[in-house]
Amino acid sequence: MIHGSCLCKKVKFEISRKPNSLSHCHCSRCRKSTGHQAAFLIGNIRDFSMTEGVDCLTHYKPEVPWTLTRSFCKHCGSAIGGAEPDAGIYVVPVSALDDDPGVKPIVHIHVDSKPDWYDIHDDIRQFAGDYIAG
Ligand SMILES: [Zn+2]
Ligand SMILES: [Zn+2]
Repeated sequence: MIHGSCLCKKVKFEISRKPNSLSHCHCSRCRKSTGHQAAFLIGNIRDFSMTEGVDCLTHYKPEVPWTLTRSFCKHCGSAIGGAEPDAGIYVVPVSALDDDPGVKPIVHIHVDSKPDWYDIHDDIRQFAGDYIAG
């Protein structure tokens, strides 16, 4: 079991199986919502469950076409992510994890949106826009 929580520990969740993927996202939306370039786990929605503090979450849904809901703790502001029922997946920022997810990053996505003030220093594949693991 992979555990996660927010900074104030009011919100807690569990992931029951190894996630499908871990991606570095360089888009401006992730930057604004997490503080910097963000890394996200993606897996099957059945493997994800909120165990505490669902009532402490608040949500922001960006404009179409950016449909990924941003969920965060209303007490401490930590980005939590969560289930995306329409897509059948969960999306969780690694910043919320308390355990090692057992996967390493596989891609850099939205590299076209990366600001000039940092560089990418690894050999992981880079995509200008999105990447759908298949
Ligand atoms: Zn919190
Ligand atoms: Zn992003």
